[in-house]
Amino acid sequence: IWADVLGYVRKNISEVEYHTWFAPVKNLGVQDGALVLGVRNSFAQEWFRKHYLELLEDALRELGAQNPQVSFQVLPAAQDALLLPSDPPPAASPPGRPTGRPPLGQPISPVPGENRKSLNPKYTFENFVVGPNNNLAHAAALAVAESPGRAYNPLFIYGDVGLGKTHLMHAVGHYIMERFPDKRIEYVSTESFTNELINAIRDDKTTQFRNRYRSVDLLLVDDIQFLAGKERTQEEFFHTFNALYENHKQIILSSDRPPKDIQTLEGRLRSRFEWGLITDIQSPEFETRVAILKMNAEHNRIDIPQEVLELIARQVTSNIRELEGALMRVVAFASLNSVPFSRAVAAKALSNVFAPQEVKLEMGEVLRATAGHFGLPPEVIRGAGRARDVVVPRQVAMYLIRELTEHSLPEIGQFFGRDHSTVMHAVSKVTEQMGKEPELTASVDALRRQLQDVEDEE
Ligand code: ADP
Ligand code: MG
Repeated sequence: IWADVLGYVRKNISEVEYHTWFAPVKNLGVQDGALVLGVRNSFAQEWFRKHYLELLEDALRELGAQNPQVSFQVLPAAQDALLLPSDPPPAASPPGRPTGRPPLGQPISPVPGENRKSLNPKYTFENFVVGPNNNLAHAAALAVAESPGRAYNPLFIYGDVGLGKTHLMHAVGHYIMERFPDKRIEYVSTESFTNELINAIRDDKTTQFRNRYRSVDLLLVDDIQFLAGKERTQEEFFHTFNALYENHKQIILSSDRPPKDIQTLEGRLRSRFEWGLITDIQSPEFETRVAILKMNAEHNRIDIPQEVLELIARQVTSNIRELEGALMRVVAFASLNSVPFSRAVAAKALSNVFAPQEVKLEMGEVLRATAGHFGLPPEVIRGAGRARDVVVPRQVAMYLIRELTEHSLPEIGQFFGRDHSTVMHAVSKVTEQMGKEPELTASVDALRRQLQDVEDEE
């Protein structure tokens, strides 16, 4: 039963959360009608009561319990002074991710809507943070969701792993599902599609297989790059594609690369993939990463200061799944050691995973710190104001960005809505006055320390 409970839990929380909190839990059996779970310390006990009690009760109810009860017991103390959460799961293909694949060897279900279950409830448009890195893909997905089969068909989304392709596809699925409950939606990974086809051929059930995929209103096929080299699957998918396309049914495909770069993909499939719209997702900028972390923290009801989120966002720069993993790691670290969230704690929690020299400052952060130091809103510093009490902080911000980040003069200029010569002027002005003007020098020194030193904080 514990395995079933875990199975249920896993479907309802993120992989990272599951790994952080549930992997170390011990099942201590049933006592007086209550399921007793062993947790690592009293903090974890509190955390479970607050965050996971309902979920666990739901799981038991789902499994047939009339009056489910769960209690948490602290396990004998661990000797290690600092408890570290176990490592997050590998980024590539976390286990338990819904794939829409029936267990091997089972008949393929022809029931309409069956596969809607395989849409992750958290992958919605509401939960998708839009930034410059993904706004085109987001807009295209939304357009498709609003008029399936009419906007862009197929919609082809490509980008590196962990950047939100699957999330966007599911978001379209949810959107259509809510507005048109009768529409048939299928989400399938290319791997599952291939396996199902193989099973169907083996079991003489290719007709069912075809009926299933050719009768949907929305077909979402994930990681289509895995069609490469699979001739039989390509052949089958070609016919599926045509059947749907001719009937104006919407097709959305995702891939880690554009169609032209998928090797050994039949020309006729490649050209079909290029019929609609091809759009990409890039790695998120710093501001987008912070926004994603913020949303994540809010969802998990974790109250964590902005500067800690910024520190995490600075360390994990490419993969959003890893970004979420880093957040959970910091949360677990602080929780298990009963310390408040601070930059120093976050740095410690992440030190095993990310080398400190990888820490990169971003322009927005320097701007915010400078603005805070001078008691001005960041927008004012970036604005057009020419008063001395705005100009000096602006020059300091430009100077520090130049010194502490790797951005070029034109990039910094653009960030401030000015050209590179303005930045150059600011930098030389501040350089010149450093050492001469005590107040300015003190400000620059204080800001530099604040922005550079994470360890000094506590
Ligand atoms: P991909 O399919 O491109 O490998 P996923 O869609 O699985 O990536 O996204 C990885 C994780 O990052 C998921 O947990 C997803 O919810 C999250 N994520 C990705 N992009 C965003 C975004 N723009 N806003 C919020 N969460 C995101
Ligand atoms: Mg994916």
